[in-house]
Amino acid sequence: MNIEEFKKQGHAMVDWIASYYENIRDYPVKSQVKPGEIFGQIANKAPEHGEPMERIFQDFKEIIIPGITHWQSPNFYAYFPANASFPSLLGDMLASALGSQCMIWDTSPAAAELEEKVMIWLRDMLGLPAIFTGVIQDTASTATLCALITAREKLNDYEPNSNGLFNNRPMRVYCSEETHSSVEKAVKIMGLGKHNLVKIGVDEKMALKPELLKQAIEEDIKKGYQPLAVVAAIGSTGTVAIDPLAAMAKVCSDHGVWLHVDAAYAGSALILEEYRWMIEGIEDADSFVFNPHKWLMTNFDCSAYFVKDEQALVKTFSILPEYLKTNTTGVVKDYRDWGIQLGRRFRSLKLWFVLRSYGVEEMKTILRNHISIAEKLSEKITEHKDFEEFTTSLNLVCFRYKPDGEEEVESLNHLNKQLMDALNASGKMYLTHTKIGDNMVLRLVAGQTHVTEEDVMDSWDIIQETATSLGRD
Ligand SMILES: *Cc1c(COP(=O)(O)O)cnc(C)c1O
Repeated sequence: MNIEEFKKQGHAMVDWIASYYENIRDYPVKSQVKPGEIFGQIANKAPEHGEPMERIFQDFKEIIIPGITHWQSPNFYAYFPANASFPSLLGDMLASALGSQCMIWDTSPAAAELEEKVMIWLRDMLGLPAIFTGVIQDTASTATLCALITAREKLNDYEPNSNGLFNNRPMRVYCSEETHSSVEKAVKIMGLGKHNLVKIGVDEKMALKPELLKQAIEEDIKKGYQPLAVVAAIGSTGTVAIDPLAAMAKVCSDHGVWLHVDAAYAGSALILEEYRWMIEGIEDADSFVFNPHKWLMTNFDCSAYFVKDEQALVKTFSILPEYLKTNTTGVVKDYRDWGIQLGRRFRSLKLWFVLRSYGVEEMKTILRNHISIAEKLSEKITEHKDFEEFTTSLNLVCFRYKPDGEEEVESLNHLNKQLMDALNASGKMYLTHTKIGDNMVLRLVAGQTHVTEEDVMDSWDIIQETATSLGRD
C-alpha cells in the first residue's frame, strides 16, 4: 500500500467509524453468532498474494462485524464498561502511526516523560497522596501481580528473586470472598499456591469484615505462616462493594503486611470529591490500581498503577543486560523496570488526549450523570411490585424479577436466567449476572461514554415487557 492509497483508505475508514458511532444503537449489542460461525467464513490459508483493501474491508463489514459484541453501545450494561471515546481513538491512532516501542527512556523520551506527567495528573485528580508514583500497566491483573511480587521481595529482602522460594516459610495473601479472580491468578503465578490465598468473610454490604481479617492473620502467624499482603476491593466486581480501607490498613500496619488496593473499576469515581470517602486510609496503603480503560473514556488497554515505594518496585523488576545499558541509565525513568513486560506501547498518548480534550470538569459531569441514571433506575425497580432491587453502588444496579407470590429461590433463579437470556438474545441490550447469597441477580451498569437516561429507561421498559411475556409462548 502506498501513501496515496493509505490516505484514500484511511479517510474511508474514518468515515465508516463515524457512521458506526452514529448508528450504534441499531446493532445487536451482544453478538448473535454461534460458535464456529466466524471461523468457518475465514479462508483456511493466508493469501499467497496481497489482496485489495476494498475486499479486506468488505469482509471486515460482512464477516467480522456480525461477530462483534458492541461494547460502545449505550445499551451495553454487562460486566463493567470498557469505554472508548473519540479523543482516545485519535490518540491511539497516532500512537500506532508512530509505532514506538517505549521500553526505556532512550527509545522515546517523550513517551517516558509524558507517562510520568499524566500519572501525576491522574494521581492528583483522584486525590491520592503525593507520596504515590504512577506507571501505566496493561491491565489491573498485571498491576496486582506486580504489587504482590514487590511485597514478596520487600518482605524477604529480595532473597526469593535470587534463590527462589525454597528458603521461605509459606506466605499468605488475604482478600474478601468478593475480590476479583485476578488476585488468585497472581498468587498462582508467583508460586505461593492458591491455598495460601485466604478469603475473608463479608458483611451484608458484601464488604470485607476487618475483625475477621485480623483474626485470620493472627492465627496464621501462630501457625508459622508469613502474612504477606492484603488486597482491598474498592468496588468489587459483583456488586461494587467497598471494603473498609482504614480498618484494613490498621490491621496491616500492626503486622507489617503490604496493603494493595484494587479499585480497577470504581477508582474512576474518585475524581468526584463526594466519593473520596471510599479511600479513607489510603495514605497507609502500599499500592493502588485503577483502570482508565473501564470508566474513564480511554480505550483498552490502560491501567494506572500507583506505588508508595518506587525503589522497591524497581528493585524487584529491574534487569540490566548489556544491550539495554544507555548513557541515561539511572538518570531517567526506564519503565521496563516498573513491571513485567519489556516492550511497552505508547499508552500515555491516548490518556493525555482524553484528559485534555474532556477536561476534568466534563469528566465529572459524565460520571455523575451515569450515577444519577443508575439511581433513577434503582428507584423505578424499588417501586415495581414484581421486581426487587438488591444493591445500587455508583452506576451499577443489581436486581431481579420477582413476580408476586414467587418465593422459591431455585425457581426465581431459573426465571431470572431466562429473562437475562431473552434480553441478551433480543440484541436490544446486554446484561450479565452475579450471585448475592443464593440469589441470582441481574447487573445493569449504566456507564458507556454516551449512555443517556432515555437509553436506560427504554431498556427498563423492555425488561418489564420481556419479564411479563416469559413462559407465555
Ligand atoms: C475489571 C477488574 C479487574 C481486572 O481488570 P483487568 O484490567 O482486566 O485485569 C480486577 N479487579 C476489579 C475489581 C475489576 O473490576
